[in-house]
Amino acid sequence: MIKLHDKYFKPFISAKQIDDALQRLAIEIADDLGDETPVFVGVLNGAFMVVSDFVKKYPKPCEVTFIKLASYEGFKSTEDVQRLIGLTQDLSGRTVVILEDIIDTGNTLAEIHRIFKNENAKALKIATLFYKPEAYKKDFKLHYVGIEIPNKFIVGFGLDYNGLGRNLPEVYQIKETQHMTNLVLFGPPGAGKGTQANFLKEKYNLVHISTGDVFRFNIKNKTPLGMLAKSFIDKGELVPDQVTIDMLNAEVEKNADANGFIFDGFPRTNAQADSLDTLLTSKDSQINAMIALEVEDETLVKRLLERGKTSGRADDADESIIRNRVKEYYSKTAILKDYYANQGKYFGVDGVGSIEDITVRLSAVIDNL
Ligand code: AMP
Repeated sequence: MIKLHDKYFKPFISAKQIDDALQRLAIEIADDLGDETPVFVGVLNGAFMVVSDFVKKYPKPCEVTFIKLASYEGFKSTEDVQRLIGLTQDLSGRTVVILEDIIDTGNTLAEIHRIFKNENAKALKIATLFYKPEAYKKDFKLHYVGIEIPNKFIVGFGLDYNGLGRNLPEVYQIKETQHMTNLVLFGPPGAGKGTQANFLKEKYNLVHISTGDVFRFNIKNKTPLGMLAKSFIDKGELVPDQVTIDMLNAEVEKNADANGFIFDGFPRTNAQADSLDTLLTSKDSQINAMIALEVEDETLVKRLLERGKTSGRADDADESIIRNRVKEYYSKTAILKDYYANQGKYFGVDGVGSIEDITVRLSAVIDNL
């Protein structure tokens, strides 16, 4: 992922794919033109890389020249195409091939046709590396198209966003969701995840999703999901993956505009971690960090028994159920430490101390991301 000015972009078309497309175009055009010596006209600024790479692949003699037009402001195509440098040579009787980096609305193409109307060229052909069929609003024929792309803003290989990005050898697409901060708050039951999440969500303007809380809400309201989950929760066991994953996905979808999420109590298994990656990837996002609250077992049991006196939670009231929850954590969930550590995203934090001190420790990790 890259950032240009205020926007994030993700890799979209590789240098190799571009090279292959230009190679195909060069052969196709050379075959079509036979013995003609064409004049290739590059449309500056964007097409400078296309022209340079294309003509090196063109297998026969050719001439090369440029015109300079401008039609973009930021990342919106404007109706108003300015001609900055026009044609500087006589093209009457010549076969002209326009080389464009991208054709989207077709406004620039309309200006090109205006420029060539009185030039008496023998033929005027249009070749473009990229073409956005969904955006194209004109009727001019496009003779040669390299790669069709969806109607989303791209940068790289000559294309810019407010001046930046032209030098990139590959093409990037604007991210659907701009930057999100997604945290997994990790640790055994009783580590203080819920308590800390309540402070962090305010401080960083994130949406807190506690799968345990969502289950309890469903149990209280006697929904089918609650009924199903209750049988597992009451024994201190994990609710089956698919049930939990579907519920989590629905919670994320409910908050489509979030700046990011604090996942508390999720993921708890490898399958859940994989599904979370898939979900966030579909939003052009990712988990930034797993922050684990480290607390030793006997302290956890003591804390949970204490909480059980007021929480009303059946799974906090009984020491053997509490120990089973801790056991479930070590047998099924603790392995996720490696999952995130392997991606350089695991951060352990001492979870013993005052609530304020622990918030400070967690904030230090987040501020450093
Ligand atoms: P918690 O409030 O996070 O301690 O969760 C309470 C109980 O809800 C757990 O002991 C599980 O039975 C169930 N639960 C919560 N999150 C998950 C999850 N990600 N996967 C499976 N079960 C879960």
